[in-house]
Amino acid sequence: MENKKNIPLSLYGLDAPTLTEVLSLPKSFYGKQIYQWLVKGVSSFEEMTNLPKSERERLSSLMSSASSSTIESSESDESGATKMGIRLHDGKIVECVLLIDKKGRHTACLSSQVGCAMGCTFCRTGTMGLLRNLSAEEIIEQYVHLLGVSDQPITHIVYMGMGEPLANIAAVTRSIRYFHEKDAYNISLRRITISTCGVVPGILKLAEQKLPVKLAVSLVTADNRTRDRIMPVNQKWDIMALKRALIHYQRLGGKRFTIEYCMLGGVNTDEFSAKKLSTYVKDMDVIVNLIPWNPAEELPFQSPTEEEIDHFTLLLDRLHVNYTRRRSRGQEINGACGQLAVPLNKGLEYELMVDEEDEE
Ligand code: SF4
Repeated sequence: MENKKNIPLSLYGLDAPTLTEVLSLPKSFYGKQIYQWLVKGVSSFEEMTNLPKSERERLSSLMSSASSSTIESSESDESGATKMGIRLHDGKIVECVLLIDKKGRHTACLSSQVGCAMGCTFCRTGTMGLLRNLSAEEIIEQYVHLLGVSDQPITHIVYMGMGEPLANIAAVTRSIRYFHEKDAYNISLRRITISTCGVVPGILKLAEQKLPVKLAVSLVTADNRTRDRIMPVNQKWDIMALKRALIHYQRLGGKRFTIEYCMLGGVNTDEFSAKKLSTYVKDMDVIVNLIPWNPAEELPFQSPTEEEIDHFTLLLDRLHVNYTRRRSRGQEINGACGQLAVPLNKGLEYELMVDEEDEE
């Protein structure tokens, strides 16, 4: 019986030489073959038919190639989105979603943590607290599970599932590098979006790493006092500290970012809020995405009415704010991270807008 002590929980994210080493493969090209199977989504050693039978049997008795498994999958008839519940090796559950937009582009929405410590008061995940960070392998495996139900390659990735990605930046950037790897999924960095509630050190770190992914910043309000109240992260890094970090990110080549403005009925949709927002974004190269809040019974907010939204957009027009307005047919996840902490069987519908200019 082989010693299993040094065997990793997952083989995803490992390169071919590392696979050869950790699996004690007798020939180095077996490592490359296993790498290619894993990228294709084949996780059973038995199905890796170009490996000798004896090697397949040995590996099967040693471990499984993935550390997580799908426990539930529900598809929305209307939007075609598929939401999956994934059981991790320690029994904890995370969720991820495959989204298909009107142009047929396939996007994986991935979780980066189990729960979240940021406590945004409008977010379901925020009510869970942080249970733990996900490893890069666990993030990659979500993509692989979604690939298993996708009829086409998944060409876009958004880190907008459970958790604050920049609070787990090492694992998130490792997973991004794997997705971007030519021999793996070869996904352009411009097609990868990280959503953050405003973790300033994470934004600065991302800028240093020169990883020009897109950033979606969940601002919700440009009024410090209101933001202090509904997003505790603001008490640590207020809106001006956030703005300085964003400008720095952009200057260092971090490309564009969007300001996600989750519209909360009666909270951030009046003239005062519009003026604050206009002043805040004035000297930044940015688009504001207006997203009506997704109703959640357990949270003390309400969705804005159509009149409220119309009035707010009118104000933004007058103030010359560059914005887009999402017209959601149902539930939408693209406003902020953490919108996935809901029962799996609700049959939610998602809509995703992917910028035109990412198709370079
Ligand atoms: S919105 Fe994002 S950062 Fe805020 S609590 Fe939810 S998951 Fe965490």
